[in-house]
Amino acid sequence: MVAKEHPAELALDVRCRLGEGPVWDERAQELYFVDIMGEQVHGWRPAQSPGQRAHRSFPVGRPVGAVVLREDGGLVLAAYDGFFLAEADGSGLRPFGTVSIDGTLVRFNDGKVDPWGRFLAGTMDWGHKEPNGSLYMLSGDGSVTTLLDRVVISNGLAWPADLRTFYYIDTPRRSVDAFDLDPETGALTGRRVVAQFPSDAHPDGMAIDDEGYLWVALWGGSRVERIDPSSGEHVAVVHLPTAHVSSVAFGGPHLDDLYITTAQEDLPPEVLAADPQAGSLFVAHPGVSGPVSYRFKLA
Ligand code: CA
Repeated sequence: MVAKEHPAELALDVRCRLGEGPVWDERAQELYFVDIMGEQVHGWRPAQSPGQRAHRSFPVGRPVGAVVLREDGGLVLAAYDGFFLAEADGSGLRPFGTVSIDGTLVRFNDGKVDPWGRFLAGTMDWGHKEPNGSLYMLSGDGSVTTLLDRVVISNGLAWPADLRTFYYIDTPRRSVDAFDLDPETGALTGRRVVAQFPSDAHPDGMAIDDEGYLWVALWGGSRVERIDPSSGEHVAVVHLPTAHVSSVAFGGPHLDDLYITTAQEDLPPEVLAADPQAGSLFVAHPGVSGPVSYRFKLA
């Protein structure tokens, strides 16, 4: 079948080094995302009230892989070698939970809150080659469980509405994998491949839509693809004007705006010079909505 095509337009001219991890805060009508190597968390309100600043950012002081929302307000970060709590304005940044990570080998990368209010975040090998990474689960009491090890580049995460399956991307495998999950312990079993990608594109972040399809950002591929996880078919594509497409999230007042982060990282200087939109935030309108983001529950 021929994939349906959707354009993307520039949403925010923000030129991150490594824009990543968008998450929509439906209470504040604000999109959070990170610039991992720029060590910043960004917040952007697409339709701000008069007098309100639409775009803001705060420094984290270390590479920040993921930002997620808390049920009680405020944020949780997975940054470099640990988890942190912060208020929504970035104040009160403080370590949370106990996890032992060797920052010389790996750093925190993509992460999301699961349907039970726990924060799943993974690490990636600095050299992009060795299986030095893991996928961790931070619970509300600060305890940390290792769910997977021997991961190279831990990336996209998503849960379908059945709450019995977990979709996951370890980028160098060039696949989306599914696991059966134990809601109580978080344990992941029965790994299988649900979709495969060609060699020109590295699957990175992903989001699930309300029809149960996955939207997968393709690093180096200048596109996002919509995948049917039951058949592995690539059913739609969003084209971007820049190569390194890193992650996606549904947001906006009706949760049907698909926000897309991109990166400047790893582009040769001559390519970057001709590509002033690299690292900026884009939006597409694919005609489907996504679920509200889950929130972390402090115990
Ligand atoms: Ca990523």
